[in-house]
Amino acid sequence: MSVRKAIITGGGIGGLTLAGALTRRGIDVTVLERADAVRARGLGFTVWPNATAALHSAGLLDAVRKVAEPITSATLRVNSGRKLTVIDMASWGERVGFPALSVTRPELLTVLADACGADIRFRCEVASVTPQGGVRLTSGEELRADVVVGADGVGSAVRRSLLPAHQNTLDQPMITGWQGVVPRPWLGGIALDMIFGPTGAAGILGLPGDRTYWFLQAPTVRMPTDGSPYTEGWSPVIKELVAATPADSLWRDDIRDRKPVSDWGRGAVTLLGDAAHTIMPNLGQGACLAMEDAAVLAVRLAAAGEATAALRDYEKARFPRVRGMYVNARRAARMQRLSPFVRDGLLSVAPFALSRMFTGPGRPIPGLAPLARKDRRSPPTR
Ligand SMILES: Cc1cc2nc3c(=O)[nH]c(=O)nc-3n(C[C@H](O)[C@H](O)[C@H](O)COP(=O)(O)OP(=O)(O)OC[C@H]3O[C@@H](n4cnc5c(N)ncnc54)[C@H](O)[C@@H]3O)c2cc1C
Repeated sequence: MSVRKAIITGGGIGGLTLAGALTRRGIDVTVLERADAVRARGLGFTVWPNATAALHSAGLLDAVRKVAEPITSATLRVNSGRKLTVIDMASWGERVGFPALSVTRPELLTVLADACGADIRFRCEVASVTPQGGVRLTSGEELRADVVVGADGVGSAVRRSLLPAHQNTLDQPMITGWQGVVPRPWLGGIALDMIFGPTGAAGILGLPGDRTYWFLQAPTVRMPTDGSPYTEGWSPVIKELVAATPADSLWRDDIRDRKPVSDWGRGAVTLLGDAAHTIMPNLGQGACLAMEDAAVLAVRLAAAGEATAALRDYEKARFPRVRGMYVNARRAARMQRLSPFVRDGLLSVAPFALSRMFTGPGRPIPGLAPLARKDRRSPPTR
């Protein structure tokens, strides 16, 4: 049976990218989102070229470009300010065919919601699903579709319906991350600075609209009792950005990941994004992987003679990629937390390996064909 109707649970970055990719291929989509509106913390992040390519394949890149700006360079340095290497992101983007973009989450989500062409139903919390394509909401309402995609994030209710309890637990590598946005432009422009300092990695990214995003990681044991960012020993530029961050633009997360499993779908149901695989944020690739999942899944569903075969095909195609990303993100986290003396010495002699740690995963994956002209349908207006 070919796919006519899809339900996506979760209107995050992954769910909305998939919604746009499916409506453009003529599939009728309902997104069920438990929040009362499109919502995200005001964080910034890098859309690496692998995700820009996915947005293009989903027919959403033009819309996203309206709120994003290309990143010109990425400088990797040690805490003293000494440069380890500089990646010319503009030239790299040209070589790999797609730019890396700087964007904020709320602005990205808003354009995805506006452009995706799906029926987005807010205040709809999914309780469980059946492998036959049935969805039950916590309100008791029941819905059905040819395929159901669980894009409901790290605590996914869809995942809990499908997989045994031991495959739902998260690992807690005992790292805390702080992130913030300062309402003033970054002196480097729309550029990324990664700094390896006393407690791991920190980063600074210039955002569109004269704002600056920063993040900082430390072992959870170093967290001050009031939960504020641990900045002892960090370079003045990080301390200054932390101090300049308004309280309502500062966020803290305990970082978690989960070893990916290869068979994450059942019958007419599959998973996507963090619901399927949660990785450490040390390569900045979690949301980018969700966008890639969406693009790959849409291509397979649109080409499908048989929906369930397409879902299994998608899971099989994605598993090596997400497992590789999980391993590399953990490796990056371990490297970043080595004693600064050892780490900075190693990084100084291998700057190319350091560049490749970030640019390798960020290259567009092969086989993500752009939308063919005949498939490029305007999404229905609602
Ligand atoms: C500290 C930190 C830093 C990060 N930095 C980066 C970065 O720089 N770059 C990057 O690419 N990634 C980064 N990530 C990872 C990124 O945040 C996630 O990988 C990404 O948000 C996953 O997108 P998603 O759409 O799968 O899930 P989510 O963004 O979690 O969206 C899930 C949606 O489902 C909804 N939902 C949940 N449960 C239900 C339910 N039962 N019924 C209906 N709706 C439901 C939620 O409200 C939400 O809207 C970072 C993560 C952390 C913790």
